[in-house]
Amino acid sequence: MSRENDFSCSGYCRDCEREHSLPEGNARIYALKLMREFERIQRLDYLTSKASADPALSFDRIFAGEQGNMFGVLECQDEHGATRVLRAFSSLPRGIREVEGWVPPILSSDTYYGLVEPTRKRIERLSAELERIPIDEKAHQARAAQRRKISQNLFEEMQQRYRFHNFRGGSRPLRKALSNDSPVPGGVGECCAPKLLDYAARYGLRPLGLAEFYWCGENSSRHRRRGQFFPVCESRCRPLLGFLLCGLDDDDCRRS
Ligand SMILES: [Zn+2]
Ligand SMILES: [Zn+2]
Repeated sequence: MSRENDFSCSGYCRDCEREHSLPEGNARIYALKLMREFERIQRLDYLTSKASADPALSFDRIFAGEQGNMFGVLECQDEHGATRVLRAFSSLPRGIREVEGWVPPILSSDTYYGLVEPTRKRIERLSAELERIPIDEKAHQARAAQRRKISQNLFEEMQQRYRFHNFRGGSRPLRKALSNDSPVPGGVGECCAPKLLDYAARYGLRPLGLAEFYWCGENSSRHRRRGQFFPVCESRCRPLLGFLLCGLDDDDCRRS
């Protein structure tokens, strides 16, 4: 199967020294259903009545101009064997974090509002100051160094606070969940797949299939098309998948 047509997700697990993978299952069917719902209701808060819908969550607002976003569905089985379909959006700008009916972000609200937001504001203030100070002045260099230190500390602190869960009952901070020692790219854990798999692992759901697709405004001229399916991303998600999927294919192990 060519890479373009392979929408399943897989990754190398350091503990088991092999790949774990999850097929697409029926997730594409549920994703297409979700797209039809998107066309119909044109907003994210689908559990809220039209009258009390939040304007910030309307697609006019979210997909203004050329903006687009990734969405994902995870087909799961609960402990009674019933099908449950989880849905997720990859992180959206303007502080859109928790929306009823969508899996929440991995980074807790306490961390986000207590640490990330205030630190980002500090960095913004420093950036504004930097623009006012001539580049060859000592004060400029000092402020620039200060800004670098603050954002570096934030990045390291966040890596500790992202905690991922898997199907073997394990949980690890970001650095330890990754399957390689390369520098951690920004935004790891903010895509749909990790959010969905982490949620399923924490709530005793067994994933059967995953699909991710792109959505944007009707007139977007971007390279990515509205409704186009994509495999789980290489840079941020794949190094996490070995850990996240660990424990899911234990039955296969016993058979072989
Ligand atoms: Zn990703
Ligand atoms: Zn494993």
